Order: sequence, then structure tokens, then C-alpha cells
Amino acid sequence: MPVRAYIGLGSNQQNPLLQIHNALIALKQIPQTELAGYSRLYRSKPIGPVDQPDFVNAVAAIDTCLDAHALLSELQSIEQQQGRVRNGVRWGPRTLDLDLLLFGDEQFNTGRLTVPHPGLLQRDFVLYPLYEIAPDLQFNSGELLAELVKEHPDDELEPLDSPEICY
Ligand code: AMP
Repeated sequence: MPVRAYIGLGSNQQNPLLQIHNALIALKQIPQTELAGYSRLYRSKPIGPVDQPDFVNAVAAIDTCLDAHALLSELQSIEQQQGRVRNGVRWGPRTLDLDLLLFGDEQFNTGRLTVPHPGLLQRDFVLYPLYEIAPDLQFNSGELLAELVKEHPDDELEPLDSPEICY
């Protein structure tokens, strides 16, 4: 049985809108995986100490028969194909960042993979687009996404008028 997983997408380099569009097309091509839905694109302010351009973010839902680590490898290979350079700068600029936010109800904390993604509950640029495509989502903890969204300010998050594209 496929597992419903949610992927966070972010870019602030080399035409971020195009990077996110291309990443959605690439998600669709992951083996044994269907792209089940995706949010609008949002502009967000960078977090952390580095002075850098705004980000474009989105969240996608996929149904996959891959295991979580194989899926992470596919996501990292898409990042590489889109020119991601890992230079060790935490929260630094990036052509494409793909985060595995949720993998069904499963929880992992291996050296390579932490799921649910540790930043999931704190980041408006994840919570709002996720809510857009999964308004009834409930976390393992019992918390409802809808409640978290209500409590979480979105002052700096701006939905973008992107054309209706079907991936
Ligand atoms: P980042 O620089 O934010 O893209 O972080 C990438 C590193 O985080 C990689 O070495 C991954 O193995 C690790 N990682 C741990 N948990 C996750 C996750 N849920 N999604 C994506 N990367 C993860």
C-alpha cells in the first residue's frame, strides 16, 4: 500500500519560481510514486542570520511505495540536479531545498532522517501551504494542523498569484 507523504519545497536562488515548478515536475517522476497534490506558491522571509533573498515555498503531497530513506535519496538527487551546492551554511541561500515533512504516521530519528521534520510545527511557510492541501491533518501527538495554523502568525507569508499549472 502506498504511503501518503508531504514534501516541503523552498528556493531563493536562480529563478525560485522556476525551481519550484521544475521540482514539482521532478517529484512526479520519482519511481513508484504519484504526485497527489500541491499548494499555491508562497513568498517567505528567510530565517536565520544570513542576509539573502526571500524564498518561494510550497508543499506537495505524494503517494509512494518507496521506503522513507529511498524517498529521501530521490529528493536529494532532485536537489543535486537543480544545482544545489551543500556548502555547510545553515539556513543559507539555496536553489532548491526538499524536506520530507511527514511520511504517513511514521516517526524516524536516524542519523540521516528525522520525520516528522523538526521544523514542521514552527514554520509558517510549511504550516500554511500544508493546511491548504491537508486541512484535516492530525499529527501523531494528537494536535490538529488547523489548530496550529490558527495559533501561528503568518505576518510575512505572501501567497503568489501563480498561473494554474497542472503537473
Ligand atoms: P538541509 O541542509 O536543510 O537540506 O538538510 C539536509 C540534511 O538533513 C541531509 O543530510 C538529510 O539527511 C538531513 N535530514 C534529516 N531529516 C530530514 C528530513 N525529514 N527531510 C530532509 N532532510 C533531512
